[in-house]
Amino acid sequence: ALRPYIVGNWKMNGLRATLAEARQIDRAAARYPAVEVGIAPPFTLVHAMAEATQELRVGGQDCHAKVSGAFTGDVSAAMLKDAGAMFVIVGHSERRAMYAESDSDVQAKADAALIEGLSVILCVGETEAQRDAGEAEAVVSAQLVGSLPRGEGAAARLAVAYEPVWAIGTGRVPSVDDVGAMHRAIRAQLLAIYGEEGAGVRILYGGSVNAGNAAELLRADEVGGALVGGASLTAESFAAIIHAS
Ligand code: 13P
Repeated sequence: ALRPYIVGNWKMNGLRATLAEARQIDRAAARYPAVEVGIAPPFTLVHAMAEATQELRVGGQDCHAKVSGAFTGDVSAAMLKDAGAMFVIVGHSERRAMYAESDSDVQAKADAALIEGLSVILCVGETEAQRDAGEAEAVVSAQLVGSLPRGEGAAARLAVAYEPVWAIGTGRVPSVDDVGAMHRAIRAQLLAIYGEEGAGVRILYGGSVNAGNAAELLRADEVGGALVGGASLTAESFAAIIHAS
């Protein structure tokens, strides 16, 4: 089996003083070589965090699909790579919802990141209304079809994060059975799209992961790791999740 991959998404949190937490998380990661650990801090901390840590994979939370140009406020995959990032998150539900990112926008970002040599964590997930309507698998399936990168070798540097929107920041998590069912469906689709290479794509669960539920969620079918928001912000809570993994 692949090493579990535990990634912190700091969202719009973290000042330079917060790098002390990253250094502590880095030391925790060194104690658990069987777990792969990453953090996606805000852009302003990517370079400093990459310099200040050794074991952590440092990444971005988004990128622009173009390499450079007149896109005020945006950051390209090439810039992230230059700053020391190893990966980038694309298609997070907060960006899909607040910045109206479409599946094809997300796919273009993923393709751009792979071209620059970054790995990609592609996020998908249904809203509560979609789950209540029995449409969760169909929604996630359509997101995958529309946003998975298709370039040569894409699967080798790809992870998919299943993050039900209603579980993000709410303290609510799906049942282990529901997580397993969705992750099996995602695996089937990865195999259909990438062939054998689809077997090596890690599928992370995200949404209210904490030290108390991480071990159980990670035992669900086809769960290869976790994408953690709030509980990744302090070394105390994030190291407990790494330990539980
Ligand atoms: P929380 O862990 O805070 O629910 O956030 C999950 C998430 O959105 C990670 O990308």
